[in-house]
Amino acid sequence: MRIVMMGPPGSGKGTRAHIISELYGIPVITTGDMLRGAVREKTEYGLEAKVYMDRGDLVPDSIVNGIVKDRMGKPDLAKGFILDGFPRSVNQADALDEILKKKDVELTHVLSVVLSDKEIIERLSKRRSCPDCNEIYHLVSKPPKKEGICDKCGAKLILRKDDKKTVIRYRLLVYKETTHQLLERYEKMGLVVDTDGEIPFDELHDHLKKLLG
Ligand SMILES: [Zn+2]
Repeated sequence: MRIVMMGPPGSGKGTRAHIISELYGIPVITTGDMLRGAVREKTEYGLEAKVYMDRGDLVPDSIVNGIVKDRMGKPDLAKGFILDGFPRSVNQADALDEILKKKDVELTHVLSVVLSDKEIIERLSKRRSCPDCNEIYHLVSKPPKKEGICDKCGAKLILRKDDKKTVIRYRLLVYKETTHQLLERYEKMGLVVDTDGEIPFDELHDHLKKLLG
């Protein structure tokens, strides 16, 4: 199974990726993990990427694509993979197609998490984060034991700038612009499978099993 995950911020895309990983015994690979791995292993692309990351800049596609290509050649992906956060542009999707073609394999699913803007804003704006240990809470679904205080380390919880309503609306806009073309491309290839973002957590396991077979 070779899956690409797609979904707006706050849609539960990562949660689904991890459940699928457990169900089918295939690894989740995120762009962040791939970048950090390449930097750690000091690969050619990793060293190039580090220059950008140290400056706090976005790593250009040419380098990211190279890192993905290296990662795709590793033996732990023989049974398949779940890509989370890649591809993010048509350019990256082209690169992925080429990499897979050379390996003589194809994507099997593009799992698209569908959730209304209203629900996404509701979820993200109720998120509270710990600035010290990065633990994430939610005022409704996962409140801290003591209001405003991190359970793990006792720090005062904050609403991240990213999770403020105006910023969320902007993030959603950016997300839609970048993914619209990608979804269209994968629709044409007959790969897109929708998953309802409102399915409760305890039903996700069965839902995904049914969806992917
Ligand atoms: Zn904390």
